[in-house]
Amino acid sequence: MDAKKSKSTNSAKLERERLVSLINSMADGVIATDELGKIVLYNGAALNVLDVNIDIKGKKIDQVATIIDKNSQTVDFTTMIIETQTQTTTRELRLSYPDGSVSNLYTSIAPVKLGYGKQGASGFVVLLRDITREKSLEEERDEFISVVSHELRTPIAIAEGNLGNAQFIVDKIGGNEQIKNALSQAHEQIIFLSGMINDLSTLSRAERGKLNLEIEPVNAHELVEELSKEYTPEAEAKGLKLRTHLASDLELFSSSKLYVREILQNFITNAIKYTETGSVTIGAERHKDGVLFEVSDTGIGISKIDQEKVFDKFFRSEDFRTRANNGTGLGLYVTMKLTRLIHAELDLKSEIDKGSTFTIYIPNLGK
Ligand code: ADP
Repeated sequence: MDAKKSKSTNSAKLERERLVSLINSMADGVIATDELGKIVLYNGAALNVLDVNIDIKGKKIDQVATIIDKNSQTVDFTTMIIETQTQTTTRELRLSYPDGSVSNLYTSIAPVKLGYGKQGASGFVVLLRDITREKSLEEERDEFISVVSHELRTPIAIAEGNLGNAQFIVDKIGGNEQIKNALSQAHEQIIFLSGMINDLSTLSRAERGKLNLEIEPVNAHELVEELSKEYTPEAEAKGLKLRTHLASDLELFSSSKLYVREILQNFITNAIKYTETGSVTIGAERHKDGVLFEVSDTGIGISKIDQEKVFDKFFRSEDFRTRANNGTGLGLYVTMKLTRLIHAELDLKSEIDKGSTFTIYIPNLGK
């Protein structure tokens, strides 16, 4: 009996040693706590991340480190840990050191069973990673994109204006066809470039959380009519019909007119771009507390696999008909960012060779 007991104690010890050497070999800080948030196990990397060199067993993380949020408010990390219910909860927080310096911290908390059998105590495993370097690279990249896109705006606007003038003059004096073609192609590309720079600039502002949200009353009816007027020439130039479908009971709603417009513009330009024959329809109807807009086309459609990726940064379908058009793969990514800012909900239905329908529900943000 005793021999049996000592065998099982030995194997438990061995198991524990294995576990400790496993977590000690990890580059990320790992801390296991009991159900009250008291540390029961940790690795060397955890001490490095928290910048402590004492035994932290039996203590709570808050007792050995000061964790703050992005607004520099102290976070009750122990409560955050013990209230974690979902499988894994990840957060980006910051760590404030006694000397006043701060590092960026990626944390992941998972509730676990820390023992075996029915009696197995439950607890939490907390993963800590210092992401200060990644964060500063990300910030530098966004800053660079923001400055470059800003600086490129003026020269591009001047080039576009001059090309437009040159086209007008050549048309008037009846210049030769080759010059006309060259000017027209240059003009087209400059317009594409200017759209791309706009996307990049909106994107970097959205990623830095620097987009101002100006909420104002929006008239869905007027907005759709304006957009239809704006895009009819482009659609007609491709032989497409641009229709509108407006419910009669539309009311004013409050949101960012600028962003709603930008989102719809992205849907409409795509619909025109990726449709060879048929029509593009812009619709609006009342839905819940706000408005449901819909832009549908009879175009090339999007395959099921691509539908999951169209909102990703730089994604463009491999379809040759997509590649026949200029594009950056940023439009829908920016759309998705703006959608989140105004708490809207996006939906996409599409069938290859039949067409696509992008819907967006914009909630009323006014009180
Ligand atoms: P792009 O600059 O390439 O148009 P977007 O981010 O606006 O970038 O769109 C991403 C991709 O989604 C497009 O390249 C295209 O493959 C697909 N897509 C978007 N809208 C449509 C549509 N209405 N019909 C078919 N494909 C579309």
